[in-house]
Amino acid sequence: MSDNDCLFCKIAAGEIPADKVLETDDVVVFRDIAPQAPVHLLAIPRRHLRSIAEVTGRDADLIVALVAAANTAGKSELGERGYRIATNVGEEAGQTVFHLHLHIMGGAPLGPLAVTEA
Ligand code: 5GP
Ligand code: ZN
Repeated sequence: MSDNDCLFCKIAAGEIPADKVLETDDVVVFRDIAPQAPVHLLAIPRRHLRSIAEVTGRDADLIVALVAAANTAGKSELGERGYRIATNVGEEAGQTVFHLHLHIMGGAPLGPLAVTEA
């Protein structure tokens, strides 16, 4: 089920353009519009889920496909250099788009995962 007002549903459907690097029947990987690292990709399921916190056992195949696509794109772009896969749940954690997405980041030393003081 897609959400009519969801930006990433529209990107998955091709209604909003994005620089896509990988597409399958179930998932899409595209470049982040405001990259926070030299390589910054987003991997999304075509099916609308608000975040990883909504995932249940029924989504097992989809989540494996999502992680596999993230790894394929990350290895293609960064090879042996490695990459970070991260996903945010909720506004305080930094989520701004409420359609599940994995950030795939690399190409420079990323440093530790950090807390921004309020
Ligand atoms: P979040 O903050 O929800 O974890 O990540 C959302 C990400 O989506 C951000 O890194 C942001 O730059 C990216 N983003 C927001 N709008 C667009 C867009 O229209 N196109 C693309 N390619 N990325 C977007
Ligand atoms: Zn959506």
